[in-house]
Amino acid sequence: MLDLIIVGKGLAANTLALSLQEHQLSYCIIGDPSLSNCSRIAAGLWNPIVFKRMTSSWKADEFIKELKIFYTSAEKRTASQFYTERTIIKPFFSVEEKNFWIKKSQNGLSQFIDHAIYTANAQHKNLVIPDSYGLVNNCGNIDMQSFLNACEDLHAENKNEVFDHSQLRVNTDHIVYKNIKAKCIVFCEGHLVKNNPFFNWIPMNSVKGEVFEIEAEGIELEKEILNHNAFIFKLKDKRFKVGATYNWKELNDEPTENGANELKEKLAGLIKVPYNVLEHKAGVRPSTLDRRPIIGQHPLHKNLFVFNGLGTKGVMLAPYFSKKFVHFYLNKEALDAEVDVKRFYSKFNNG
Ligand SMILES: Cc1cc2nc3c(=O)[nH]c(=O)nc-3n(C[C@H](O)[C@H](O)[C@H](O)COP(=O)(O)OP(=O)(O)OC[C@H]3O[C@@H](n4cnc5c(N)ncnc54)[C@H](O)[C@@H]3O)c2cc1C
Repeated sequence: MLDLIIVGKGLAANTLALSLQEHQLSYCIIGDPSLSNCSRIAAGLWNPIVFKRMTSSWKADEFIKELKIFYTSAEKRTASQFYTERTIIKPFFSVEEKNFWIKKSQNGLSQFIDHAIYTANAQHKNLVIPDSYGLVNNCGNIDMQSFLNACEDLHAENKNEVFDHSQLRVNTDHIVYKNIKAKCIVFCEGHLVKNNPFFNWIPMNSVKGEVFEIEAEGIELEKEILNHNAFIFKLKDKRFKVGATYNWKELNDEPTENGANELKEKLAGLIKVPYNVLEHKAGVRPSTLDRRPIIGQHPLHKNLFVFNGLGTKGVMLAPYFSKKFVHFYLNKEALDAEVDVKRFYSKFNNG
């Protein structure tokens, strides 16, 4: 009998699988990546700052510490390269904005914001930086396609198929799915948890996002990410990733004309050179109403678990919480109340 079945093939499922491996837990991973684009199209960025409020992102220092350890160790285990540390360039569009930045760099965000103020120079001529800019350290990105492809090779038991919930038999001390017997099952289905009859009561607030990959000449960004209402960073050669949009209505993976127009508008605020759009993709982020992950045990079936709600910040959250999940599963260590699915048990009773 296996320890677990993992349902999903995105960031949540693969991060959890790698963490389970570290504890010699056996699992079978079952998923059909074609059902959801989310993890594969994500820019994979992490950033410790919430620019809108100029505050530190929730537990940023703890999450970033953990993600560095996790992804660099995953690179070694898979003999692949997907982890890149970067710096964010934040241009100032007013004196007030610059002064507020300086204040925050001295008090509140000093661990993440560079204390210096930089003046735009000839190197930035094709970027929209009116005069001066600040830098955020401790940022970076995971090349999500490379990470997920590398993980595929690590799973001993790996099924590429749609999971049919009606075929799951739940017993008190084990579960059976088709011919697979395991002690328990953990669902990492992203926004598609809405189709899971065991966990469809979880209050998601999923949000569609669209991204471009463009080709352009003369954009002098190497490891920097330019951020102003959107982001642009270099993939390789003349290829750049640009994003993203937010749409709470059309929850599907179809790129739209509105999305393309919005991205073009945002790009006009980032670069001054012509470009070709090479790819335009969309996906649905598994966001939650209270903007916290949703992790833990089913209220009735103690061998059914959920690991979801990574929202807009999966890259930062997944390593930290997959480790927490393993400690919760193995040692019964309580999950943070903020992320424990228990906070929604009343929704299960009501509906
Ligand atoms: C445009 C965009 C940009 C983003 N940029 C960033 C970013 O820069 N940084 C960041 O941290 N996050 C970003 N995100 C968010 C990030 O992608 C998510 O937090 C993360 O990928 C969610 O992973 P997940 O595994 O929970 O969900 P998903 O990636 O949706 O994975 C769910 C998996 O379950 C599978 N599945 C579901 N139901 C079934 C079933 N019945 N049978 C079989 N398989 C099933 C799906 O096919 C999929 O493989 C972005 C998202 C989008 C859309």
